[in-house]
Amino acid sequence: MLAISELEAGYAAVRALKGISLEVGPGEVVTLLGANGAGKTTTLRTISGLLRPIRGTITFEGRRIDRLAPEEIVRLGISHVPEGRKIFPGLSVVDNLQLGTVGRERPSRSSVLDDLDRVFTLFPVLREMGSRLGWMLSGGQQQMLAIARGLMARPRLLLLDEPSLGLAPVLVQQVFRTIREINAEGTAILLVEQNANMALRTAARAYVLVTGRIVLDDAAASLLTDDRMRRAYLGARIEA
Ligand code: ATP
Repeated sequence: MLAISELEAGYAAVRALKGISLEVGPGEVVTLLGANGAGKTTTLRTISGLLRPIRGTITFEGRRIDRLAPEEIVRLGISHVPEGRKIFPGLSVVDNLQLGTVGRERPSRSSVLDDLDRVFTLFPVLREMGSRLGWMLSGGQQQMLAIARGLMARPRLLLLDEPSLGLAPVLVQQVFRTIREINAEGTAILLVEQNANMALRTAARAYVLVTGRIVLDDAAASLLTDDRMRRAYLGARIEA
């Protein structure tokens, strides 16, 4: 579904990605793990068109997307839930959610209402808070709102950047449960996480990034018990 090949990307003098290749199959949950600064966010920003690659290709459902604008990429079916949630604090929950539909071609009112109903079923707390302003929500509620807004674009592939960051353990569990529910409805997910343990229990496959290079890729269940995981996190050299 998504295929990244030999991708290089970065910022001015920083080559954050040094030639990474990865794939996500239809309906699959794949996690991209790595320490701070490894290049996880850069990978997602490049897929969603916020950053132009320097070299390499990204294809989605057989079509090159690495030169497309972010709004075209959303329209093709990829939705990005950024790190730090980035909800609009001065807008209500419902208005934040409606912004998630902007990539869609004139969605009908009834289809937007159906989609609101769908995300409210997934996150009942958001239904109760529909008219509250974004800033009034707790961190966990803001994270749910950010994911729900991403779903309003009706993605076939959802990019999630550190959805568990800064949340209390009980909310972390809830976020991961929701990720499984979204996937059970057929949406493929590329999940960036620092919480490797939870991510590996949720994903089918995983890639581990160390300073812009993929040093490990394997079935998530295998990596959970793999000593190379620990070494990768310490930044040690991995013999693939
Ligand atoms: P984190 O968990 O901290 O977000 P990450 O794995 O997502 O880490 P990236 O944010 O992709 O890592 O950063 C990769 C590299 O690019 C780091 O060296 C970082 O300092 C650098 N970098 C990220 N954003 C910028 C920017 N806007 N300008 C310059 N360098 C940047």
